[in-house]
Amino acid sequence: MRLVFYAILALIIYYLLRGLWRPKPRGEDAREFEDELVKDPVCDTYIPKDKAISVKIGNKRVYFCSKECKERYLEEMKRRRR
Ligand SMILES: [Zn+2]
Repeated sequence: MRLVFYAILALIIYYLLRGLWRPKPRGEDAREFEDELVKDPVCDTYIPKDKAISVKIGNKRVYFCSKECKERYLEEMKRRRR
């Protein structure tokens, strides 16, 4: 019975220590941001947000995998406006 008590105590201490060493919320946010995938509307590729080339069009932001895709999209926009 005593052994069970010590085992539980050890578990509690373990969880308390793990709680203290857990990364701060700011770090978690940064990781989420890195992992976020955005879609390139030109070639339908998903790219991590931090590696994507972004362009603000009107009040929304569009992401591209490369400069070529960005240019192609902007060309398409111009053509549609005519
Ligand atoms: Zn692309």
